[in-house]
Order: sequence, then C-alpha cells, then structure tokens
Amino acid sequence: MEHQDTFRESLFKTYEDNKRVLIPKEEYGTIISELLQAASVSKKTSHQYYLLKKYKVLQCGDSERLIRRRVHADEAPLYFVSIEETFDVVKRAHIATGHGGRDKMVYELTKKYANITIEALNLFKSLCLEYQKKRKRPTTKGIVVKPIISKDFNSRAQVDLIDMQSMSQGQFKWIMVYQDHLTKFCVLRPLTSKRAAEVAFQLLDIFLLLGAPCVLQSDNLFRIY
Ligand SMILES: [Zn+2]
Repeated sequence: MEHQDTFRESLFKTYEDNKRVLIPKEEYGTIISELLQAASVSKKTSHQYYLLKKYKVLQCGDSERLIRRRVHADEAPLYFVSIEETFDVVKRAHIATGHGGRDKMVYELTKKYANITIEALNLFKSLCLEYQKKRKRPTTKGIVVKPIISKDFNSRAQVDLIDMQSMSQGQFKWIMVYQDHLTKFCVLRPLTSKRAAEVAFQLLDIFLLLGAPCVLQSDNLFRIY
C-alpha cells in the first residue's frame, strides 16, 4: 500500500509536464462527459474536435472507459487509465512478466493501454525489491557450454519426466517427454509411476513407432534397466 502511495504521488508530481498523457481520475470523468456532449452538438468547439479526434468512449459493462480513437473498427481497443489506476495496471503487467523490467512491461502494456509512461514503469521497477534482487544475481558469464549438434533424425534423443503428482489425472502422475534432438519432434506419454518397466514399455512403443535413437540421453530422474 505504501508503494502505491509513493507511486501515485510521484505521477501527480509530473502531471504538470505531462498533461497530454496523464489523466487524474477526476479529469477522466470530465473527459467522458465532455465527449458525450461533444458528440451530440452540431457546432463543435476546437476543444471538442480535439477530444473527438483523440478519444472514444467504450461502454464496458456498467462503466465507461476512454479508449484511443481507432482508424479501423476491428482494431483492439487501447485503454486510457487514470493516474489512480496506473499502479494496479503496471503491477499486473510486472507480475505477469515474472517481475519483468521495463522492456517486458512495455511489450505487455502497449498491446492494451494508451497512456502508460516509461517513467511510470521505471518508477515501478525501482520500487520492487524482488526486481532489484533479481538484477543483482550473479550472471553465468564466462561459462560457455559447447552445444551438441545432431546431424540426423534419431542420432540423439532425450527422455524426461514431468512430475504431475500434485495434479494427477486419475491414475496418471507423470508425463514422459521423448524428444528427438535434431528435429525437436516430441512424443508425450502419461505414466502412473516412474517404474522402469513402465518407462521401458512406453519407450519401446516409441522406438517401434520412430525407430530407436543411437544415443538416448536422460537426466538421472529414473534408471533404465
Ligand atoms: Zn517485482
């Protein structure tokens, strides 16, 4: 809550310099009623023309939202948000991108919103402890892993198990993922257990389908006898 207040106050401080972009909640409501009025009069003032050129009112359930006026009717609406709403909108994008930085948030937000500023994103990110921690994490620079290049289909395949025990489907608790290294062709099989016999049964079935690979690699999630 504390962050939200800091964030909002900071946006209000820049409002004077950013009047064409930032909209306080009160003004948001005013613009909507001005727009509705402007649409109904035949002789419009230049301010009314300005509003009609920039905005459109979109009825969303029982509330009215401001969107950017569209050139084509099938364009996805770009919503204007008030200063008061901006924190929640940015927060959602930040969380959705896994505590993403500015660019990830920009990518997420420009699809849907018309007036989120870069300054607001930078500010939000500076308030997030998780993001700061993430940035300080040491990178693995310097460690170069030589990639394994496969030339042919079936020269190398990989098998892994995905643990689905917390979301089992009936008797099935694991997903076996079999993937050809070159083509990335992938076969999925449900397993009831990690038992070698069950894994071998499914592997044999895949080998009979695609042919056996020269090398079969796996993490030591299970042992194949
Ligand atoms: Zn964060």
